[in-house]
Amino acid sequence: SVDTTPIRATLFPGDGIGPEIAESVKKVFTEADVHIDWEEHYVGTEIDPRTQSFLTWESLESVRRNKIGLKGPMATPIGKGHRSLNLTLRKELNLYANVRPCYSLPGYKTRYDNVDLVTIRENTEGEYSGLEHQVVRGVVESLKIITRQASLRVAEYAFHYAKAHGRERVSAIHKANIMQKTDGLFLKCCREVAEKYPEIKYEEVVIDNCCMMLVKNPALFDVLVMPNLYGDIISDLCAGLIGGLGLTPSCNIGEGGIALAEAVHGSAPDIAGKNMANPTALLLSAVTMLRHLELHDKADRIQDAILKTIADGKYRTADLGGSSTTTDFTKAICDHL
Ligand code: NAD
Repeated sequence: SVDTTPIRATLFPGDGIGPEIAESVKKVFTEADVHIDWEEHYVGTEIDPRTQSFLTWESLESVRRNKIGLKGPMATPIGKGHRSLNLTLRKELNLYANVRPCYSLPGYKTRYDNVDLVTIRENTEGEYSGLEHQVVRGVVESLKIITRQASLRVAEYAFHYAKAHGRERVSAIHKANIMQKTDGLFLKCCREVAEKYPEIKYEEVVIDNCCMMLVKNPALFDVLVMPNLYGDIISDLCAGLIGGLGLTPSCNIGEGGIALAEAVHGSAPDIAGKNMANPTALLLSAVTMLRHLELHDKADRIQDAILKTIADGKYRTADLGGSSTTTDFTKAICDHL
């Protein structure tokens, strides 16, 4: 394409290794002729009363306006009396689905070489509703909230995603045999949405069986959709199948078409500022951002260059057993472009 109009996107470089790996994304995008006008926002040093967190109101407005953004890792500040940064982002921007594509990286050997699946996690309710209390001494209660609205919304997104990405099957992961009301309602909503997508196969898999199937043969799965807590666990399990959190991208989908892509690893304080960080997870997250913008050609090109660099094995960062710096690894990706 010859379109050179820049797209405005919000960038949270984040803490620790965040700015180093964000720099890598900027370099690779420039090399690939992806014209993004980044609006950079950092976490504040004081609590913003309008968000009750270290995230500024301006930074949230930036995401709301641009509807697209990329987020590096944020270190949770020590101390009480404020909301967690990730929770604030999730609540304020209504990020209702967390999408994690998980595929085997050619040339990077793990136990499996045939993983190609996507987990879609409901991100707003379930056991994460924050409704826990003590009934009497020695007895506590936690409320798991499942609503028709949130379940339909995430199911709709899963089928829409499957269709848009040429996927064949959606599996709803549940424990409705025990959680009859809550997971039962979740499944009912998935079934309703499935009927609108006859071209996509739909199945229901009990979570314990799903775990066993995933570790025995991950190729059995395509797109998985599930309530919050199951999604938390299964998405990390899937990241483990392909080599760990340092390689896995993710994207949060919010109301009104917002997409905020993020690496799932933390700020890695032990290696921050040492030019040692692996930028792959943030780069692949940036690729999911391009896919959300339907810039599939650019996304394919960048993804190929990243995968080729890792497969070549000449330039790899320490976490992948190599000795390259972040800068050299990034340069190798740019050379592949
Ligand atoms: P971490 O992911 O930062 O680090 C765990 C280990 O993995 C460390 O040895 C680190 O060096 C390594 N690692 C992580 N990412 C890497 C990369 N890209 N390249 C090479 N090595 C990498 O987890 P942690 O130490 O538990 O957390 C550190 C901080 O990050 C905490 O303040 C935590 O709150 C925050 N955190 C933020 C997010 C987020 O913003 N999404 C997620 C997790 C943790």
